[in-house]
Amino acid sequence: MSNKRLVKYKSITVEENILPYVEKAIDILDACNIKYSDRIDSVMINRRLRTSWGLCRKINRYGEKWFAIELNQYLFEGSKEAVMNTLLHELLHTCYHCFNHGKTWQKYAQKINTMYGFHIKRTENCEANEVELNKVFKYFVKCKTCGNVVGKTRLCSVIKNPEKYRCGRCKGSLQRVDRI
Ligand SMILES: [Zn+2]
Ligand SMILES: [Zn+2]
Repeated sequence: MSNKRLVKYKSITVEENILPYVEKAIDILDACNIKYSDRIDSVMINRRLRTSWGLCRKINRYGEKWFAIELNQYLFEGSKEAVMNTLLHELLHTCYHCFNHGKTWQKYAQKINTMYGFHIKRTENCEANEVELNKVFKYFVKCKTCGNVVGKTRLCSVIKNPEKYRCGRCKGSLQRVDRI
């Protein structure tokens, strides 16, 4: 995922290597009669994103609100379906009344899941997506108190010395685990 060439798809600026995903996702929304925003600015890979698979931000573009979607680079080390689930999740946030995971967002997600067999979920938190985490991360620590698992791609300090760190969620003590 080093190619950062940008292309335009409709009004959307897209990293060229993820264009096929974006085209497919938009086709699916069209086929489901789901009206996404005509103010989607961009779909990009965020190479610093660590805590979620994707996000949808509102940005100010010449005084207008537009949407910018970012995808976690490690998402692309998993399955194509995982990419589609996340991308569709974020695109749905651009629909009217959908900048949350409320009733309208859920109705649309359910419609796509039913029609296309996807598994668009409400949470895009990396920790909550356990099956994918095993594909993406090599090392894990787990909280002894709340069970929260954090994955790392490298043998970093928290993996080498979990006893020196605390759970970000509950401050419990951590231990190294092989898999989730
Ligand atoms: Zn969301
Ligand atoms: Zn904890």
